[in-house]
Amino acid sequence: MSGIPCRYYDGRTSRRRDAVLALTARGGLVVAREGADERLNYENVRIPGRVADTPRFLHLPDGGVCEVQDNDALDGEQARIRRDPEPRADRFGRLRHRLDSTWQGAAAALAVTAAILYSFTEWGAPAVAAVAVAATPPEAEAVIGENFLTLLERLRVLKPSELEPNRRNELLAAFEEMRRETGVEDADLRFHSVGVPNAFALPGGTVVLTDLLVELAEDDEEVIAVLAHELGHVEGRHVMRRFAQTSSMLVLWTAFTGDVSVAALSFLGPDRLLAQRYSRSFETDADRFAFDYLLSAGIPPTRLSDIIQRLSGDDGEAGAGGNALNWLASHPGAAERARNATEAAKRAREGAAADE
Ligand SMILES: [Zn+2]
Repeated sequence: MSGIPCRYYDGRTSRRRDAVLALTARGGLVVAREGADERLNYENVRIPGRVADTPRFLHLPDGGVCEVQDNDALDGEQARIRRDPEPRADRFGRLRHRLDSTWQGAAAALAVTAAILYSFTEWGAPAVAAVAVAATPPEAEAVIGENFLTLLERLRVLKPSELEPNRRNELLAAFEEMRRETGVEDADLRFHSVGVPNAFALPGGTVVLTDLLVELAEDDEEVIAVLAHELGHVEGRHVMRRFAQTSSMLVLWTAFTGDVSVAALSFLGPDRLLAQRYSRSFETDADRFAFDYLLSAGIPPTRLSDIIQRLSGDDGEAGAGGNALNWLASHPGAAERARNATEAAKRAREGAAADE
């Protein structure tokens, strides 16, 4: 099949295959993967608008995705289809084309977009974030998280984990038990290497744990304490709320283009996104969640302060090496949080004594 070359992801694995695609007259799409005999037919595939020369991602109804680099070919194919069976008056399309094709139009569109972005970032973000997150269905949140993770892998911010499979399985089992006990269903744990000790949650509930944090922990209890804290962020949907607040540019970009593209992320800086701080109130909530779980599992809450202290080293809050990607860099207030852990442990002891 002659057609437009694309990269095809089946939506279940991160594996990428080369393929070609062709548009059909009725808004459908045919994909032929390289090395595969069959052709995949799809109805009603939305073709996202072109943004400069960034790749476009065509989302297929079965969860697969085609990434198209050759924007001219895709535009040409769309024009051909439009001319072919039934030409339609598309006033918006014509206006957009005019805006795109003259520099005055492009400059005007850019100015309007910049103005919207600026006012949104300046005044609207925190308020809109809360509403937007409440209205975001969990499936959409999962897609955002999954896209983000894939991009971090492709930009090599995250590398594959080198932890022993046995070690991983032990921690996965502990995480599974935590998930069951706390009723936070939509969470999963993945292992990666970043070169710094870190653990963070993504929209949709994926918690990423880095090799170095596991290696620096004295034992599993300390890792579980950190994971319980991250699960607290998942439960409160803090990640999405923070994302929406502090990355409104990214959220708007996604809304405009229908995709989180590599180009957008490279320009916003994925490491900056990862290094952003949670608010104190999110931290306190997540710590409280962790203390409750740790106590129910018979683990002293002070295990959280133990690992915080180990990550701090001797020089306080900056964390080991002072790296911005360190877990402590995105988790301010180490000293205060360590005190809270001690108090939670003390309260639990007094409570137990009063019960006797
Ligand atoms: Zn946190």
